[in-house]
Amino acid sequence: MRKLLLTGCGLVLALYLTPAVWLYGSEPDSGQTASASAPIQSGTPLTGEYSTVTVSIDGTPTELPLETYVAGVVAAEIPNDFPLDAIRAQAVAARTYAVYKLASGRPEAHPDADVCDDYHHCAAYRDIAVATASGNDLSRVQQAVEDTEGEILTYDGAPIAAVFHCVSGPRTEAARDVWGEDVPYLQSVVSPGGTAYSGYEDAVTLSATAFREKAAQAFPSADVSGPPDDWFKSSVRSDAGGVITVQLGGVTVEGTDVREVFGLQSTNFTITTTDDSITFHTIGYGHGVGLSQYGARYLAEQGADYTEILAHYYPNTVLTDV
Ligand SMILES: [Zn+2]
Repeated sequence: MRKLLLTGCGLVLALYLTPAVWLYGSEPDSGQTASASAPIQSGTPLTGEYSTVTVSIDGTPTELPLETYVAGVVAAEIPNDFPLDAIRAQAVAARTYAVYKLASGRPEAHPDADVCDDYHHCAAYRDIAVATASGNDLSRVQQAVEDTEGEILTYDGAPIAAVFHCVSGPRTEAARDVWGEDVPYLQSVVSPGGTAYSGYEDAVTLSATAFREKAAQAFPSADVSGPPDDWFKSSVRSDAGGVITVQLGGVTVEGTDVREVFGLQSTNFTITTTDDSITFHTIGYGHGVGLSQYGARYLAEQGADYTEILAHYYPNTVLTDV
């Protein structure tokens, strides 16, 4: 399964602003078995020049100044009406992730480009010139990118995998609990203010028939022939509350796979059942690792500047110039 690394709140807006094909294209793919590959590579030290980036936009490699690309990512990932320091923090995270990708080398998925505009794989991208020409106000996004020009986060001298998400529960998730790899700067930290997000709590209900169909496809060894209240047992949760693993019909499955297969907003879920249906109740939106955009918004409203927000969500890192 693809891992949803950069899933900001801006994408929530995008779901309503873009054609249905985009919406369907962005849905989690179902019915596949999980890949064990960890998405976080150890950092590659900075060498050479990072002033331009080749972006695969709708499949066409396009060379852009790094700062233009960063502005396009920020525009796609966070609302322009957030506090400036929250957007500045997002800008540094987006720039850092871009440089991390540049330093890591081009992936097999697009050998002709450093990054692509698919947020399942790299990061969403929105052409600022096109967006502003059609009446969108992106002035704060542009200012935040200019204010932080060239700034990235490093750990041990290498750009970090500055993953981010829309909103987490009371705590963010550690990378170890979501992707199975311990990353010193992606640990669980408190993240207040999430309830300001209108979709902080969500629920997904499936009929027993629909659930069994999806489960049979994704987890064929699981026995879900019994009643719904027999399906799930013995969840193992992270400190942040996310389901790491759970027993489904006698088989151990990962919380991230349950999230993707049943279209949940997060792995932080609880379950209620009736005789012929199941409901997943979730808290938060996204994988919960790294910077929480709504958490950044809250901290900025409390007076934190972007360097403090970044230090909170990416502990043990250093803010430096690329
Ligand atoms: Zn990509």
